[in-house]
Amino acid sequence: MTVVVAAAALRALAEVPDAELGARLLRGVPTNEARSDEELLRHAARATAFGTELAGSTPCGSTAGSLAGSTPAIVEHEGGLDAALLAQYDARHHRIDLFTDSIAFCEQLVDDLGWRHLFPVGSVRAAAVEHERAHHLVTADRSRGLRAALDHEVFRLGRFRRLAYIAGADEVAAHAFAARSLGLTRSPLLLTRAATAAIRTRNDARAASNPKEN
Ligand SMILES: [Zn+2]
Repeated sequence: MTVVVAAAALRALAEVPDAELGARLLRGVPTNEARSDEELLRHAARATAFGTELAGSTPCGSTAGSLAGSTPAIVEHEGGLDAALLAQYDARHHRIDLFTDSIAFCEQLVDDLGWRHLFPVGSVRAAAVEHERAHHLVTADRSRGLRAALDHEVFRLGRFRRLAYIAGADEVAAHAFAARSLGLTRSPLLLTRAATAAIRTRNDARAASNPKEN
């Protein structure tokens, strides 16, 4: 497996602070286009604080509160790379799908980029599980806690306040949740950014060498 192009550009991502990576993630999500950098940084910081706190209150392996119910089942598949998928939470079937080929690709990428001190062996799978567990907890709470943490008011009528949802905030929170849960020094958001670019490069190269399949 080779990560041919732009390894230096990927490595340089490590220079970008997690807060800025969070703001960039939000920037890329529809409905956030018009928001200022300052606003996105604020939402990213609040989502990060929320995810970190949530991980502190529902430690790795705990079954969480009665609201969230049991931890979702984990089902492993191949075929994640072609779809550029690492994992996903299926709320309807109460399960976490993990894509083993993508996880192996990311583990290799960690070595290729010299990031092993940031993401120890096995942390990609563990972070994916914790990330999806965070989605499960946020979904079970109907995003009420996250919305309150973001404190982004749409309007106020007397004592009645309506809080908006910031698209992508659950992603930032889930990455922060995984980082805290596993005691990582960097948010897995860093690895996700690099992996997304590397997988795109891989898929583009494959499409170019197999034009008939596309
Ligand atoms: Zn996610």
